[in-house]
Amino acid sequence: MAILIVDDSKTTREIIKSYLNEAGYHDLLLVGSAGEAFARLGMNAPEAISRNATACIDLILLDIVLPDMDGREACRMIKSFEFLQDIPVIIVTSLTESEHLGKAFSAGAIDYITKPINTIELLSRIRSALKLKYEMNRRKAREISLLEVTRQLELAVNKLNQLSSLDGLTCIANRRRFDEHMNNEWNRCRRNAMPLSLVMADIDFFKAYNDTYGHQAGDECLKTVASALDTALNRPGDLACRYGGEEFAIVLPETNKNGAIYIAKRLCHTLKSLNILHKSSPLGKYVTVSMGVATVLPTKEQSPADLIAAADRALYSAKREGRNRIKAAGMDSFDDIVHAPAIPF
Ligand code: GH3
Ligand code: MG
Ligand code: MG
Repeated sequence: MAILIVDDSKTTREIIKSYLNEAGYHDLLLVGSAGEAFARLGMNAPEAISRNATACIDLILLDIVLPDMDGREACRMIKSFEFLQDIPVIIVTSLTESEHLGKAFSAGAIDYITKPINTIELLSRIRSALKLKYEMNRRKAREISLLEVTRQLELAVNKLNQLSSLDGLTCIANRRRFDEHMNNEWNRCRRNAMPLSLVMADIDFFKAYNDTYGHQAGDECLKTVASALDTALNRPGDLACRYGGEEFAIVLPETNKNGAIYIAKRLCHTLKSLNILHKSSPLGKYVTVSMGVATVLPTKEQSPADLIAAADRALYSAKREGRNRIKAAGMDSFDDIVHAPAIPF
């Protein structure tokens, strides 16, 4: 614990030093003016240097009469620096009038010692001031570590929130996130009287894919399809989710039926261009998907479940009509768009 002694009298400095040395305090810095003290405290230097310069000073003994400045003014100036505010200042004075001391206390000093120096008084004041500084240091360190713990907790909570919304295999939004997003967008579109569309997509003959290439290859295929769907969407409210097994749901807020069909077509083309081999598919050489599209103008009387059911029905129709095609609720299938080979069902 370093103590900065500021006194213009060399004799006084030496007396204080010898008393303190005797009491076991050896880390002492002795200066003869306010200017020297300011330099030692780093008050003239940039902040980074200041912090280093003061890191080891725990107490200042400040003479009230200095050659370049009144000690009380010096104290006020020291305390005006935030990074110095916690260093206790004890005024050393031969002027015991309360008026002078009052000014010292209002300048930020915590205690005073009168000259001629009484060793018992000096040591007891120093001990209490250092104890106070030690407690302040401890409290600060605790505050810093608490802040750090809070920061780490926030990061962990954010990470957990993120993870709980993501599908473990494909890393796109999971069913939980889908439900949440669907509800939010349902309410938002209802308030703004905007249409909400949903595309349900299901990989065709995926069981056969697994049987042919193995479950691990099936997983890789799911990841590729998921990532392609995810990156093919542009608008912030659009969301591709893994709805279950090899089924994906794409939420398209503020999108009407034609817009949703347009997006579904684009997604189909994107997946088609991946050219994922599927030699056991009766539909051709590559992996294909079937899609069901539904659009609704959300009302109080309906719920997201109605939209999901409608998109599911359209998907089922697409499957029934031969797969590898888009079917919009209440409309003809778009098999021409995805060039599905006609297969008997
Ligand atoms: P359809 O064209 O009628 O959709 O036929 P399908 O074979 O794709 O559909 P079905 O429902 O009969 O089979 C789905 C398959 O998807 C069966 C299951 O093994 C596979 N599957 C579901 N989830 C996963 C997964 O996480 N990883 C892998 N590798 N396969 C999965
Ligand atoms: Mg399938
Ligand atoms: Mg399925």
